[in-house]
Amino acid sequence: MPNLTASSVNIVGGGIAGLISAAHLAKAGARVSLFEAASALGGRARTREVNGYFLNQGPHAIYLGGAFHRELVRLGVPVSGKRTQAPNPQGLWRGRLHTLPQGAASLLTTSLFNAGEKLTYMRVVKGIADGASGSGTFAEWMDEQKLTPRLRASLEALARVTSYTNAPHMVSAAAMLDQIRLGLKGVMYVDAGWASLVNGLADVAREAGVVLHSAARVEHVLVEGRSSRLVLVDGTEHLAEATILAVGPGEAAALAPPIASLKLEAAEARPVRANCLDLALSRWPDEARQFVLGIDQPLYLSLHSVAAKLAPDGGAVVHLARYMAPGEMPGSDAISELEGLADLAIPGWRALEVRRQELRGMIVSNAVVRADRARPDVVLADAGGLFIAGDWAGGEGMISDASAASAAKAVDAVQRWLRQSSTQAAA
Ligand SMILES: Cc1cc2nc3c(=O)[nH]c(=O)nc-3n(C[C@H](O)[C@H](O)[C@H](O)COP(=O)(O)OP(=O)(O)OC[C@H]3O[C@@H](n4cnc5c(N)ncnc54)[C@H](O)[C@@H]3O)c2cc1C
Repeated sequence: MPNLTASSVNIVGGGIAGLISAAHLAKAGARVSLFEAASALGGRARTREVNGYFLNQGPHAIYLGGAFHRELVRLGVPVSGKRTQAPNPQGLWRGRLHTLPQGAASLLTTSLFNAGEKLTYMRVVKGIADGASGSGTFAEWMDEQKLTPRLRASLEALARVTSYTNAPHMVSAAAMLDQIRLGLKGVMYVDAGWASLVNGLADVAREAGVVLHSAARVEHVLVEGRSSRLVLVDGTEHLAEATILAVGPGEAAALAPPIASLKLEAAEARPVRANCLDLALSRWPDEARQFVLGIDQPLYLSLHSVAAKLAPDGGAVVHLARYMAPGEMPGSDAISELEGLADLAIPGWRALEVRRQELRGMIVSNAVVRADRARPDVVLADAGGLFIAGDWAGGEGMISDASAASAAKAVDAVQRWLRQSSTQAAA
């Protein structure tokens, strides 16, 4: 990377996208200040620790072949945890549990499919693993596969568990198939929760010289020639040669109302949401199911502490979630539905509950990757010197991988911008 000494960059937002951008730019020599509204860094990747139990904001798994893992490795942030592989995972179909087909043996024995469906499932999943792609929506791609209702529901479940997206008629087939392929490569639950990754990123950023401001809410961003000025709610102002908005589309648009491209993205974004019940249990019953995926209902249950150090000895952390469809709002049964799933999978869990976290309608990703619309580029064509990063921006990956990939792209774009500025100044 070129040396950017004396160039100044402001970053709004201290989640994964903001921290990755800050660390890379400071390592390249820029003077970087990051402003986070909350009292702690991390955004949706925060973890709450209570009496030795670590609760992420809903179930979080890192994709081993994804951009977030790649950027952590590039920055030298340690990632400690284990690849997940629950014994005998279950699929929930019409109120009954069945072996979830994950490989040849489980496909052979599962009561979920008949013999013909087993062959078709094997062919379709192998086709995806081998690089199947499609144009249009994921629903249109599934139409072409001529699937029985059970097979179609199973593929929709596979799509939900790898992407959180419960929108087959909206999501891009190409992006969804890429995401399923990524999921098939394996995911990892992280020791001490995702806060350990946030802390690792913050350490690298600090060591590289980033000034990290928490409890520092930015109110406005003003573009002034080739510079941009942040105005904070406390009245302080911070001028820089470039600014990255590592916040959601609605927040970005509110920070810079005159920027039409941001207003458009805020209007077009269709958030991906989930209801979550995160449970800390004093012990895990031997007969409990460690992994259940809803086939005809958009539900998920997984014992994360079996793979990662998330609980004191003997204790357990299990995450339950409902993948919400676009426009769906949390109902009055948002949590009781998840408790019902726990009743089915974990006998006697109510007497073992130590702590819980309930999240209703949580934004998992700021925008569905749509078939009918490209994601915005990290460079704002109508605002020189302003850049965006987050799970709604750039063209690579979904959820945290999109945040990390867009952050890396924004870093490259900022460097190009700063080089142009210094060339113009020298001319
Ligand atoms: C329930 C759930 C489950 C998930 N599971 C997974 C998973 O398994 N795998 C995966 O890869 N991803 C998962 N994700 C997604 C992942 O958490 C997010 O994609 C990622 O954390 C987003 O990071 P970000 O930096 O783009 O945004 P955010 O984390 O939202 O960070 C934006 C930051 O900007 C700050 N901010 C906003 N406005 C201002 C302002 N005016 N001034 C200053 N600061 C401001 C906010 O406080 C926030 O900290 C999950 C998310 C949820 C909610």
